[in-house]
Amino acid sequence: MNRDSFVRAIPSVDKLLSAAAPAIGRYGRDLVADEMRVLLDETRAGAHLALFSDDGFEQSRFYALLETRLHALCAPSQRCVLNLTGTVLHTNLGRAILPSVAAQAMTTAMTSATNLEYELERGGRGERDRHVEGWLTRLTGAEAATVVNNNAAAVLIALSTLAARREVIVSRGELVEIGGAFRIPDIMARAGCRLVEVGTTNRTHLGDYADAIGARTAALMKVHTSNYAIQGFTATVAEEKLAQLAHERALPFIVDLGSGMLVDLERWGLPHEPTARETLAHGADLVTFSGDKLLGGPQAGLIVGNRALITRINRNPLKRALRMDKLRLAALEAVLKLYADPDRLRQSLPTLRWLTRPRDEIARVANEVLPALSAAVAGRAQVEAIDCRSQIGSGSLPVDLLPSIGVALRPMASSRRSGRLPERWAVAFRRLPVPVIGRIQDGMLVFDLRMLDDARKLTEQLPLLELPADGANPRQVASESIAS
Ligand SMILES: *Cc1c(COP(=O)(O)O)cnc(C)c1O
Repeated sequence: MNRDSFVRAIPSVDKLLSAAAPAIGRYGRDLVADEMRVLLDETRAGAHLALFSDDGFEQSRFYALLETRLHALCAPSQRCVLNLTGTVLHTNLGRAILPSVAAQAMTTAMTSATNLEYELERGGRGERDRHVEGWLTRLTGAEAATVVNNNAAAVLIALSTLAARREVIVSRGELVEIGGAFRIPDIMARAGCRLVEVGTTNRTHLGDYADAIGARTAALMKVHTSNYAIQGFTATVAEEKLAQLAHERALPFIVDLGSGMLVDLERWGLPHEPTARETLAHGADLVTFSGDKLLGGPQAGLIVGNRALITRINRNPLKRALRMDKLRLAALEAVLKLYADPDRLRQSLPTLRWLTRPRDEIARVANEVLPALSAAVAGRAQVEAIDCRSQIGSGSLPVDLLPSIGVALRPMASSRRSGRLPERWAVAFRRLPVPVIGRIQDGMLVFDLRMLDDARKLTEQLPLLELPADGANPRQVASESIAS
């Protein structure tokens, strides 16, 4: 057939729709009609040649293709994945995984009316933050606390409240960028304050801050250098000294802790990460930190500190725009309650369980994974267990890596083409029903097993793995030519 007779052979949308009852039953008439029009437009433009046989337009093939499209369209966009990257708090993979008590609290809050902003005794309007404020003050020793959408919002509203149209002094060594979208200088500008940079990239002294204080100064600020470390000839000013200087000049001292923590991680043999309590004890007037980093809770921005300052923040009209919803408040309350019993935190909080997972337990998972993985990639890749290092992620402790065990896939022999194989294998693992995400390292595809709690989540999927080999893979070439 030539092109024109192809096009003439295509039935009308109405005719195709009248025989599409099964699809309409599953997806609804509007979606089916829309997707049909898109498919037919593509076909008229020369795509989908496989829809035609010598007898003309094959309706059964058309409905099969339509079903595939609609199924993909309606599948959940946000899906479960296996995070075997070795980064426990992976921002692109959703950061902290909530404990089940928090998930239950969220379910309750989302399927029922709640006393979110309602005083049950009095029968009148209440404050939504009161569900978590008591826990936050108890756990940090702060006078008062408030919560907003995330830590970026916490910094924004704190600066906007305390320092609009005035100056905030920050060390040049602390002008951080977190993942591109959050930069301290940009947030300052949006909060309406003027950033006054002091010191140099590697060294800032107390005198630098003192010299910069003037009539327009509104606050001194310290920012945790979350995702980088400056090493060598360096100097920073201790929080106690900065707090003392700020208070001598009747200024507030703000600390953005970034990840922040409520208990000392050294208790579990992990590297020290500053806690909100110790930062307040050093004299900070306001401390901001994230809910879904080391804290292991939902996305949230926590602000703790001086009662008068927290009250001013709560009166800022931005608070309404940045407030937390009832679901995350319920989850945060449940997670904070777990911190009341730090002895059991390792069992109750997934983030901490993974960060402190014993090496021999990870080794056990590796032993379970190895035979199935070797069988699945036999003849295509060499598989071995390797020592590797996990990261906490989300800007915590960038230089401290946690010893872990991974499985590594390595090309059988090095050739000119084999260098790109690990990337292509990574694609194949991401196409599994529960996509498996690893990392490329030293010419290998590595799956860090720290966060794999059950080896079967990986091994049971392996029969579906379609691993491309070095050189042309006949099956791959065939399926590519059909798709195009
Ligand atoms: C992560 C981080 C932020 C942003 O926190 P979000 O909760 O992601 O909004 C701000 N400041 C520092 C220092 C951080 O590490």
